[in-house]
Amino acid sequence: MLGAAHEKEDVMGLFGDKCTRCGQRTRNAYQDAPTCEACVTELETRLAAASEETRLCPLDKTAMEKEIVAGSVVIDRCGTCKGVWLDDDELGQIRRSIELGAATAVIRGMSTYPI
Ligand SMILES: [Zn+2]
Ligand SMILES: [Zn+2]
Repeated sequence: MLGAAHEKEDVMGLFGDKCTRCGQRTRNAYQDAPTCEACVTELETRLAAASEETRLCPLDKTAMEKEIVAGSVVIDRCGTCKGVWLDDDELGQIRRSIELGAATAVIRGMSTYPI
């Protein structure tokens, strides 16, 4: 019994599995589905964002929508005045992502990710 389970694991280890979200080969898993580390980070960020309190726009008091940029930074966007609000550390995180060469991720992230 044990032997069979090990065999399966070895094959997975050799080739890796396709991430269910982006198709990248990965040996990482999240909730029993093959998911690469970058996607796990994003999923967890989304979960955290969903449990975060909704903020009101400082200008017009509209409840703002949460968006994820640069893969793991949660920002608040106002649908009324189109303003985007960042916490101090969020700006720092975006800057760090850009410095790490993840500029494409930022651009991709900017094209709105409704949570
Ligand atoms: Zn992935
Ligand atoms: Zn507003």
